Amino acid sequence: MHKKLLFSFLAIAISSYSTFAQQPKKPNSSEIYESIQKLNFLASVLYVAAHPDDENTRLISYMSNHLKARTAYLSLTRGDGGQNLIGPEIRELLGVIRTQELLTARRIDGGEQRFTRANDFGYSKHPDETHEIWNKNEVLSDVVLAIRQFQPDVIINRFDHRSPGSTHGHHTSSAMLSVEAFDLANNASVYPEQLKTVSPWQPKRQFFNTSWWFYGSQDAFEKADKTNLLSIDTGVYFPLNGLSNPEIAALSRSQHKSQGFGSSGSRGEQMEYIELINGSLPTDKTNIFDGIDTSWNRIKGGKAIGDILYQVEKDYDFSNPSASIPKLVEAYTLIQDLENEHWKTIKSEEIKNIIANCAGLFLEVVANSNHATANSKVPLSIEMINRSDANIMFTGLQLKDSERKKRLYKRFPLKDNIEENLKDTILISSRQLPTTPYWLTKKGTLGMYKVEDKALIGHPETPREYTATFKLEINQTPIEFTRPIVYKTNDPVKGEVYKPFEIIPEASAKVSEKVIIFENDQQKDIQVVVKSGKDNLEGYVQIAHPQDWNIYPEKQKVSIANSGQEQTLVFTVVPPKNQSEGLITPMVHVGDQVFTRELIEIDYDHIPFQTVLLPSESKIVRLDIKKRGENIAYIEGAGDVVPESLQQIGYNVVILKPEDINTETLSRFDAVVVGIRAYNTVEDLKYKQQELFDYVANGGNMIVQYNTSRGLKTNNLAPYKLQLSRDRVTDEFAEVTFLNPEHPLLNYPNKITTKDFEGWTQERGLYFPNEWANEFTPLLSMHDKGETAKEGSLLVAKHGKGYYIYTGLSFFREFPAGVSGAYRLFANMLSIGKEDISTEESLKN
Ligand SMILES: [Zn+2]
Repeated sequence: MHKKLLFSFLAIAISSYSTFAQQPKKPNSSEIYESIQKLNFLASVLYVAAHPDDENTRLISYMSNHLKARTAYLSLTRGDGGQNLIGPEIRELLGVIRTQELLTARRIDGGEQRFTRANDFGYSKHPDETHEIWNKNEVLSDVVLAIRQFQPDVIINRFDHRSPGSTHGHHTSSAMLSVEAFDLANNASVYPEQLKTVSPWQPKRQFFNTSWWFYGSQDAFEKADKTNLLSIDTGVYFPLNGLSNPEIAALSRSQHKSQGFGSSGSRGEQMEYIELINGSLPTDKTNIFDGIDTSWNRIKGGKAIGDILYQVEKDYDFSNPSASIPKLVEAYTLIQDLENEHWKTIKSEEIKNIIANCAGLFLEVVANSNHATANSKVPLSIEMINRSDANIMFTGLQLKDSERKKRLYKRFPLKDNIEENLKDTILISSRQLPTTPYWLTKKGTLGMYKVEDKALIGHPETPREYTATFKLEINQTPIEFTRPIVYKTNDPVKGEVYKPFEIIPEASAKVSEKVIIFENDQQKDIQVVVKSGKDNLEGYVQIAHPQDWNIYPEKQKVSIANSGQEQTLVFTVVPPKNQSEGLITPMVHVGDQVFTRELIEIDYDHIPFQTVLLPSESKIVRLDIKKRGENIAYIEGAGDVVPESLQQIGYNVVILKPEDINTETLSRFDAVVVGIRAYNTVEDLKYKQQELFDYVANGGNMIVQYNTSRGLKTNNLAPYKLQLSRDRVTDEFAEVTFLNPEHPLLNYPNKITTKDFEGWTQERGLYFPNEWANEFTPLLSMHDKGETAKEGSLLVAKHGKGYYIYTGLSFFREFPAGVSGAYRLFANMLSIGKEDISTEESLKN
């Protein structure tokens, strides 16, 4: 039982990082040769850090492509807390994108990818806070599990475990947990439940991937004691690829497109330094595997395999890889007899791929659509071709089919360059669950994903349910090849496009907007989009809502002819008289089933197509809000949804480009709002500051949202002295006190109280100024645990007849989450100085 389970886990782990919904890899002769070199190297490196994009791809590529070691990156989180530069997805959907970006990066640098259940909940100043929000014991258990599964000889940490507080808490924590796990993984009394599927394992050494940066300066680094330091020149050149290692690393790093990490490679020397933190210093300081047998002799029964395979490597014929097949098949047979299940599984998969690639063997099963529902029949097209003179016989095909249909295929040879096509169908079980990322199926906590099926922990993505296993005989030796069922189509612009074959629900629905704000008691229409996963969908839709709200009609019929089609229904929402908020969920009734989830499709060119099922929820908020002024100009920065949010509460918002900023245009607006990080990202804005300040002097309102203290394009941020700092308050529950409770900004037209700071999300704010001229009045004080009070989150200065406001408060995060207090405070910022203007809108309120 023990061995069998281990085997099945590894088999999944290996196939899962290969080719989901990607054009299958078609390695050329030099790539096959490199995979034979890799087959003959039996050692492993695990690189550990916290987020997608923390990993040093130069080192990973060097380990994988130069040393030929099995190399994996363990990213504790999936990066949900980051920002997205390529699309609207945030939080868990961003985590799905960044997971795929890591997998794509690994396909380029040759590494594998692992995760823990830790959730990237946003910026954390200290590992103590990180461990409070994560379940430290669960994350540590997952790191130990990763070590027991992967069995690394060497672990390399990206971060220093000895300097808490000097970087993101997740970073230091990743190193601290890795150091703890180094000592625990071999102890059978630690997490003993894991030992049903894995064995204890002791890595030989552990390093910290340091650099001069960690020493403060190049100079300090030169002078430092380097006894425990190994230096590695990762700037090697690979003539078989025509690329330098840093060039490969840059291609890999550039996959972190959602983070804007496009990177250009370099050529020539590229030093990396690793500091020994656990285990013995290598006698030969150029060899991180010093003292470890990295040859086939490492394992019992390995010598005979090595004798064959080193000869295969030596005799490899670049113009005819298939000449290696007879010897490879011989070695494959010996590998099947290995007692060491760990290496047996890894090397079996590797050698099978090499045999297939040497034969130019192409095996594929294509479904007629990229999705199907439970209890449906799916037609399949099967293609097989051998492009070598190797002796290959097709003996059968195994498909997961709930009909348990016996498939009787006759045996036939796969002849050189003769394509064979078969047709078949499978029946999807009526109990089959839809495909979705396994870590998102149950609601977790702020710090942890909830994974009920323990066998899935650590997997980069949900293992494919539907695969096809081709049974072949190569040189009379039975060998099975498993491929995921895929869908492919031809796009007139992109050419051949692959998509994964997925199971979707019969119906899914969403309300078009995630947050709907009611700034008064007037009803609003909402659109509910129902999508069918099958042909001839008939049913009706109801909307679950809080008791003090009303939605009509109570139900509406839905009728959709074709799978994949949508129908939009309009419902009317009536808010209560007073401030109130809650969630609404569309419920699609089909027969005796009720569907309450939303199907989200993520489609970018650099990663495989993804579908995600999440609870379909929208927040409805009835605000108690008054406002003055109507016309707002918005100057965009790095991108945020503040303009849409202000529109939702009834403002007329116009996006103003830097070239359109002039006295005449500005005079039409009651206020100008500057988007997040505009002074970091919009070069031309620096030439427009004077015009903006003049506009304020003439009676306008200018509100500037957060910019980072580094990389400002102007020193002239405000009409008076204003110095940005790295002060931030990451605790969204941090208490807020009013420094100047009588100030109009806290009283007019909305009376702001501490209640308005309840329900904030992710953080209070960031990059607060820490020095300002006397003209500024600070209004709020707040701080994270153990820190001094930060008073720069909201500063207001009267300038001439108008007001200039600088705020590092995270309105850009609070608005999309429908936080009422944030809207009320922002309305006051826009209304300041307009005490005597009563618009019709404000009277209504
Ligand atoms: Zn990071």
